[in-house]
Amino acid sequence: MSLEIRDRLAGKIRDVEDFPKKGIIFRDITPLLKDANSFRETVVFIADYYRDKDINFVVSPEARGFILGAAIAYELGAGFIPVRKPGKLPYEVESMTYSLEYGKDEIQIHKDAVKKGDNVLVFDDVIATGGTAKATCSLIEKLGGKVVGVCFLIELTDLKGRDKLTDYDVFSIIKY
Ligand code: AMP
Repeated sequence: MSLEIRDRLAGKIRDVEDFPKKGIIFRDITPLLKDANSFRETVVFIADYYRDKDINFVVSPEARGFILGAAIAYELGAGFIPVRKPGKLPYEVESMTYSLEYGKDEIQIHKDAVKKGDNVLVFDDVIATGGTAKATCSLIEKLGGKVVGVCFLIELTDLKGRDKLTDYDVFSIIKY
């Protein structure tokens, strides 16, 4: 991967200290999205990595994953499927719970979103602990889909989220 693009895009990520709580550095992608060239470059760069992989659908968890995920799907000529918090999807759902540092969280996908044999790319803006991405992959597999790749714009390497995704091809662009 060219260092230039990584540095260029990293320059568009804003670090916000103590958000949403003390001690967290939030990696804010809104300056990147606002810059037309960076937005387009990100989408095309990621899509290029998967172009020959016969992706049918891009699946992203809410909410920031939707923005780039949908654009990547469009660029690949693939469909887009949202994964959401409980109570947000209108039709029948499949659910997955996963552990957080304290407590549990749950995400859902429409039951008919993916079917056996579908090739799926999972995309989220940031991988932290990897719990959300792992649960998203599990939902896709529960419905019979194949996770062809798992992609993030930003990887927080200290949190070792990648270790939860050893069964998958994981690709990230900016590492902290
Ligand atoms: P994870 O711990 O990998 O399950 O991350 C949970 C969700 O929170 C992901 O969708 C990330 O996009 C988001 N997230 C976690 N940590 C950060 C952070 N430091 N900055 C921005 N987003 C984050």
